[in-house]
Amino acid sequence: MTDDALVLDDVTLTYGSATAVFGLSLTVGAGESVGILGRNGAGKTTSLRGIIGSAVRRRGSVRYFGEEIGGMRADQIARKGISWVPDDRRIYTTLTVRENLLLASRERSGPARQAVDEAVAAVPLVEKLLPRKGIQLSGGEQQAVAIARAVVARPRLLLLDEPAEGLAPIIVNSLRDSIIELQRSGMTVLIAEQNLNFVLAATQRVCVLDSGRQVLTCSSEEFGNSPELQNEHLAISLENHGRRR
Ligand code: ATP
Repeated sequence: MTDDALVLDDVTLTYGSATAVFGLSLTVGAGESVGILGRNGAGKTTSLRGIIGSAVRRRGSVRYFGEEIGGMRADQIARKGISWVPDDRRIYTTLTVRENLLLASRERSGPARQAVDEAVAAVPLVEKLLPRKGIQLSGGEQQAVAIARAVVARPRLLLLDEPAEGLAPIIVNSLRDSIIELQRSGMTVLIAEQNLNFVLAATQRVCVLDSGRQVLTCSSEEFGNSPELQNEHLAISLENHGRRR
């Protein structure tokens, strides 16, 4: 048995003949929250796809609680307790939010209603949305529902692809708090995200990609306290980040 939830070992990911991620090695401890940062096109989304084997060709090893999952199908991986929230959210638009959550509860044993109640408690933004149809949701509301839907299955590992992208700060803050609570409750979380403040608040460690290459892995605290590292790896203006020296 291992204390590591996820171990990527020298993982290279390609689309056709184009390599998007080169030799990524990353360990996520059980119960840990880790962020993958990087500029546009750095390979953040591709790295998550590489874990679940979606839409990308993979070389290298992906181990989940000690078991190689590299060759497994997406449905087998989901049954092992990995939930993925894609950046396009994929809510069923003709179903209500409650129905979307109930559908997801089939992935889990036990009473469906209890699973939905727990997910709503974990993502409180969803509560008032339960009777609404998917098509009636804003982007932020869709994101909240997508996270709640992933949580319904009570995953051991939650993969979040750009959860804060394009959302209003009030929604971003609420989703951040939900993710922090989920991690505190024991869930392992891996977030691909460009919003630095979101990642720094919601994770313990960060891995920074640049043009598909891993350029830095350190604690979120160290990265948050270093405008130099942020500027070097993300080219974030120090003024914009409120850390002018
Ligand atoms: P962003 O923050 O803009 O979403 P990202 O860091 O998530 O970027 P990826 O989406 O992983 O980056 O893209 C990494 C590289 O792979 C980019 O050069 C991108 O153009 C390429 N890429 C992504 N998806 C595909 C695809 N389906 N087919 C071919 N190339 C792709």
